[in-house]
Amino acid sequence: MSHSQDIAHSKDYVFSTETTPQTFTGNQGLFMEEPLIFEQDTPGLTGVDWPDVEVQDIYLAGLRRQSIDLPGLSEPQVVRHYTRLSQKNYSIDAGLYPLGSCTMKHNPRLNEKVARMFSDIHPLQPISTVQGALAVIHQLSNWLMALTGMRAVAMTPAAGAHGELCGLMAIKAALKARGEGHRSLVLVPESAHGTNPATAAACGFSVQSIPANDRGRVDVAALKKALNPDVAAIMLTNPNTCGLFETDIIEIAKAVHEAGAFFYCDGANFNAIVGKVRPGDLGIDCMHINLHKTFSTPHGGGGPGAGPVVLSKDLAPFTPLPYVVMTDKGFDLKEQAGNNDLSIGRLKGFHGQMGMFTRALSYMMSHGKDGLKQVAEDAVLNANYVLACLKNDLTASFEGPCMHEALFDDSFLKGTEVTTLDFAKAMIDEGFHPMTMYFPLVVSGALLIEPTECESKETLDQFIGTLKYLATQAKQGNKKLFHEAPRCTPRKRMDETKAARQPILKWTRKL
Ligand SMILES: *Cc1c(COP(=O)(O)O)cnc(C)c1O
Repeated sequence: MSHSQDIAHSKDYVFSTETTPQTFTGNQGLFMEEPLIFEQDTPGLTGVDWPDVEVQDIYLAGLRRQSIDLPGLSEPQVVRHYTRLSQKNYSIDAGLYPLGSCTMKHNPRLNEKVARMFSDIHPLQPISTVQGALAVIHQLSNWLMALTGMRAVAMTPAAGAHGELCGLMAIKAALKARGEGHRSLVLVPESAHGTNPATAAACGFSVQSIPANDRGRVDVAALKKALNPDVAAIMLTNPNTCGLFETDIIEIAKAVHEAGAFFYCDGANFNAIVGKVRPGDLGIDCMHINLHKTFSTPHGGGGPGAGPVVLSKDLAPFTPLPYVVMTDKGFDLKEQAGNNDLSIGRLKGFHGQMGMFTRALSYMMSHGKDGLKQVAEDAVLNANYVLACLKNDLTASFEGPCMHEALFDDSFLKGTEVTTLDFAKAMIDEGFHPMTMYFPLVVSGALLIEPTECESKETLDQFIGTLKYLATQAKQGNKKLFHEAPRCTPRKRMDETKAARQPILKWTRKL
C-alpha cells in the first residue's frame, strides 16, 4: 500500500486532481495500482512446496547461487497479478479497434479450437508423424496461390516486414541470375508503410521516393520518369495506405516490366480485395500477405505474425527453403537446396508459424470462396459508411469512395488549438481506442480509420456519434476537454519521447 502511494505521488505521473479522485489505496474503482511483482515480495513466501534437495557443491565448481532473486508470493497473489496485467491490455475482444493499416479483425474462436489440435507437436518430429501438419501448410499454400493467382509461395516469413525481405531477396537473386545484379534502385511511393524503404535499404538497395498525385494515387508520370536501367523494383501498396485502390496499377506494372524491373506489392491491405481481384492478374511479381491481418490470426505488440510471400513464375525458382512437397509416399519437406537450385535459402528456423497457419486455413475454409469475397465487400462497405457519415464533420483527405479504410486530415481542427493527438486522447475518455494517427505522412495530422468487416452497424454508429460529438466540441472552442484528456485513465499523458529514448527495461532492487 505504501508503494501504491509512492506511485500516485511520484512526479513522473501526471494526475489531474480536478478529475481524478485521490483515494487511500491509490486505486480508482477497479483500476488497481499494481506494483511490479518484484515489489510485492515477501521473502521466503511460496505457493508451492518443494522437497528439500541435497545440492552437491562438488558438481557446481563453486558457482552455486545463493539466490535467484525471485519474489516470494502466494498462488492467489500471482494469479491476480497476471490476470490484472492481462486486463490492462486493450484488445479486439474488448472493443472496436479502428487502427488503419493494421486490419484488427475478430479472430473466430473456431480458429483457436482448430489451432489447439496441433499444439503438442514438435518441429523436430519425424516427418511420418506430422503428415497432418504438413497437409495444413500445403493446403494453405494452395489457397494463397489460388486467391492471388501466383505460381509459388514462401510460407516461412514471420511477419509482413520479413515477407518484404524475402521478396526483395528473391528479386535480387533473380536479377543476379540474369546478369543484372547491378540494378541498385528501388522505387517507393511516398505514402508507403515505413517497412518498405527500410526493407529495400536493408537489402542493400538505394531508395527513391515517388510522389502521390492530388487523388492520393501514385503519380504515374513521375514514376515513368524515374524508371531507368538501374531500377531493380518498385514496392507499391495496393490498396494503398490512403485506403485507395491504385487505379493505374496495370499501366504501372507494364511500365515497370518494360524497364526490366520487378513489381513488388505490399499486400498488407489484401483484406479489401480478397476474393475480388487476383494480384497475379494485375502484373504483380511478388507480394506478402499478412495472415495476421487479412486472415484473422491475432496480432499486436510486435507478434506473433506470419507473412507468406506469393511469387510469380519468374521468381518461383528463388523460393526460400524449406517448403512442403507432395510425393507418392505422402508429404515431405524440402529442406536442402540441390546443386542447381536457385533458392535463396532459409529465412527462419523450422517451418513457419504453425499456429498462425492453422488459424488462417480454418478461417478460409469456414468462410469458403464466397465468404472471403464477402469479407472484402463488407470491409469496404463499413469503411465507406464511416467516411460518408463523418465527411462533413472531419475532413476527408480525398474525393470519392475509399476501400477498406477512411482517411481524414486535421483541417477540421484548424484554429481550434486541438491537435490530432488531443483528439485521440479525448476518444480514450469516451471508451474508444484511437485510430491510426499521423500516418500516412502524405496528409497533415492524418486520422486513418479501418473498421474491418467485423463491426456491427450499432458499434459503428456509436463510434461515429462519438467522433461527431468531439469534432463539434473542438469547433465550439472546448479546448479543456481535449487538453486535459485522457481524464478517465489511471495514467495521463506520458512522455512518449522519453519512454522511447530512455526505456527502463530492467528492475533493480532499491537497497
Ligand atoms: C502491417 C503492414 C506492414 C508490415 O507488416 P508486419 O507484419 O507488421 O511486419 C507493411 N505494410 C503495410 C501497408 C502494413 O499495413
